[in-house]
Amino acid sequence: MRFCPHCHSQLLTDVKRCSNCDKEILSSPPQMVAIHPLPSKLYAEMVKEVLEKRGIPCVIKTDPLSSAFGSDGTSAVGTQATIYVPEDRQEESEEILHQMLDHI
Ligand SMILES: [Zn+2]
Repeated sequence: MRFCPHCHSQLLTDVKRCSNCDKEILSSPPQMVAIHPLPSKLYAEMVKEVLEKRGIPCVIKTDPLSSAFGSDGTSAVGTQATIYVPEDRQEESEEILHQMLDHI
């Protein structure tokens, strides 16, 4: 999976221009892979901060857990957050994440 470096929208393979922000994709963005999903965006933001301190660029994607069950519009069900990191930093990121989860 690839993301626009400008707006972090998901990109289709080999597009020259982002379909969301219409900015040109100059170089091929790195292949992004998902690491361990997190139970909330809050956790994801915490992990993102730590990863970025280590120089690992990352993107958070959230998916409503209730979408298939006809949510009544409240956010009580919450969302699942998945963090994407460049493929070549995946192992390092997983390790950092696991260390963090031990302390939560
Ligand atoms: Zn974009």
